[in-house]
Amino acid sequence: MFEALGNKLQDILDRVGRESKLTDAQVKAAMREIRMALLEADVNFNVAKDFVAKVSEKAVGQEVQGSLTGGQTVVKLVHDELIETLGGESKQPTLKTDGNVWFMVGLQGAGKTTSTGKLAAFYKSKGRRVLLVAADTQRPAARDQLEVLAKQVGVPVLKVNDGETPQETRRRLDEYLKTDYRDLVIVDTAGRLQIDEALMDQLADLQTELHPSETLLVVDAMTGQEALNVARVFDERVNLSGLIITKMDGDARGGAALSARSVTGHPIYFAGTSEKLTGLEPFYPDRVAGRILGMGDVLGLIERAQQADLKAMEVKKPGDFDLEDLLLQLRQIRKMGPLGDLLKLIPGMSRALPEGFNVDEKQIQRIDAMISSMTVKERRNPKIIDGRRRKRIAAGSGHTVQDINRLLKMHEQMKDMMKMLQRFSGPGGKGMGKG
Ligand code: GDP
Ligand code: MG
Repeated sequence: MFEALGNKLQDILDRVGRESKLTDAQVKAAMREIRMALLEADVNFNVAKDFVAKVSEKAVGQEVQGSLTGGQTVVKLVHDELIETLGGESKQPTLKTDGNVWFMVGLQGAGKTTSTGKLAAFYKSKGRRVLLVAADTQRPAARDQLEVLAKQVGVPVLKVNDGETPQETRRRLDEYLKTDYRDLVIVDTAGRLQIDEALMDQLADLQTELHPSETLLVVDAMTGQEALNVARVFDERVNLSGLIITKMDGDARGGAALSARSVTGHPIYFAGTSEKLTGLEPFYPDRVAGRILGMGDVLGLIERAQQADLKAMEVKKPGDFDLEDLLLQLRQIRKMGPLGDLLKLIPGMSRALPEGFNVDEKQIQRIDAMISSMTVKERRNPKIIDGRRRKRIAAGSGHTVQDINRLLKMHEQMKDMMKMLQRFSGPGGKGMGKG
């Protein structure tokens, strides 16, 4: 599918060619393909239609920019608009110093309970005192599931009783908070397989009692087309304030995110990227925009056109220092604390790292995610990681192809440096001679 889209977008580039202004016909031709790409990414039909109309309006008569071709200008416009539609900048939920109550809602299986656990871990690590509330009054198993997660995270959990009324839950929560101070209460609610009036009433009642400061809809990225409807109904019935999109580690392209965000207008705060408690990341509209259009490499083309001096990556002979080693080293270094300072101690390191490469905890996590998305074969022999594999790894780890390119380049540079260091301090001091 990625390949097919790549070809389509390449077609646009060829067809539109180099012109100084975009004509109506050119824009129409390009937009047909963009609409198809959106639909293939599971963006809702109406959302795709509106989106294309909006971009077309901006595109016609647009000056072709600098070193870009007409097609690239269109793609850039589409990409920018897609980022805008997905919310522009990455946003975080509002967090007051005290009295935060967050309400998690969504269909059964969307990932509410898992995300509740992830949020607890995330905010606990930021120094918050988190309490989880297991508010599924029908399924004891669901409450137990949250209790297990709470234990893993190390936060308390308040479980409602079977058939408990919202008033009773409110009273018990107040009671609890009198004896144990908590500044962030996250309430995991019941779900149904489909939208269900009785459930909506129940959620609305509990919401009225608890006055949550955030009501977060958890949407499964794999639900595709249905995401629009789910988001609309939940927003109508329980006034959402934000969204969390889960299972972005799967095959889904992210169309559900675009649909849910564009129908509700609420920010997408987080993306779920694995089943584990650590699998939660801030939602980055720019990354998902690239993923929706499956055009990581087309955007790369644009980047290269803009920075003409950026040379294509060289493929070098495989050395001993493979990506598996890099991953192991990073994980070890991570345990050792502030990394930037440590790396600066290694001679030549600051020069070896690519421009703009900041070594921080987040960066390490991203590199970890990217390498983790590779097969063992790829880690051992990065030479085989061609365009198609890069796309797969990028999609699998929630990154762009450029991110993968940067990682591979960095690895090459580190490998060279390792060789250099080895020459100076080879095993037994005779490293120099050995060929
Ligand atoms: P709930 O019914 O909405 O509470 O959904 P759960 O939290 O029980 O999650 C349903 C299933 O989806 C479980 O198997 C989770 O492990 C899985 N899941 C949740 N979030 C993610 C995610 O971001 N990535 C992946 N791969 N699986 C997830
Ligand atoms: Mg649940």
